[in-house]
Amino acid sequence: MCRIAERDLLGATVRSPDLVINPDTVGAWCIRCGASIVSARVTRACKKCAGRKQHRAFTIRVGSHDGGLRDGVLALKHHGDRAAGKRVAKALAQQCRATGLFGLESSECAVTGVPMPFARWCERGIDHAGVIAREVARTLDLRFVRLLEQEEGPTQASLTAPARRRRAGRFRLRSRPSVPHGLAVLLVVDDVLTTGSTVESIARIILGAGVAQRVGAAVVTVADPWSPQ
Ligand SMILES: [Zn+2]
Repeated sequence: MCRIAERDLLGATVRSPDLVINPDTVGAWCIRCGASIVSARVTRACKKCAGRKQHRAFTIRVGSHDGGLRDGVLALKHHGDRAAGKRVAKALAQQCRATGLFGLESSECAVTGVPMPFARWCERGIDHAGVIAREVARTLDLRFVRLLEQEEGPTQASLTAPARRRRAGRFRLRSRPSVPHGLAVLLVVDDVLTTGSTVESIARIILGAGVAQRVGAAVVTVADPWSPQ
């Protein structure tokens, strides 16, 4: 049974959620967009991705947005439960290894998190994607880098899918980003992927600036907004 972390009156977490995490097997999701694959005849990419231009080279996910994964993400995001965040981040790091996409030297790869607007960071007191990204980087022995900023605005979760896509231009490179040279792969980490417009926008910026040759998304969960097959 999964339970959301509880807090005492002082706001301190008194109990972490009892998370049961069952990662998807590799092949259960489209390696390009992250959508669930329901047809046994499809092995890597879904029909939606056939012939479609996409900036990110791949998507790694732990599972669908339900059960222990969903509880872990919510506990971190809304209750500041870093222990829960570490649990889901370690599952994501293991999934990165399982896909075999990390045969590259660690000096050629880096990890970044989807940035949060500064005012929201102050309000919530936690940059949840950053917490997950740092733990993924630490577990995989990769460099964590802060590359981007996000302008202020409503949360993606509060918007419809078309409205999310219209806000795809809300990211920009930091004025003095900690950009390593010659990156082969930049892994962009987020908690939940829905339309994919966030990571597509970031990938377009990173590739356009020549920061990395390839950009991949690594997300804890995918909330499929469409029927994938
Ligand atoms: Zn796909």
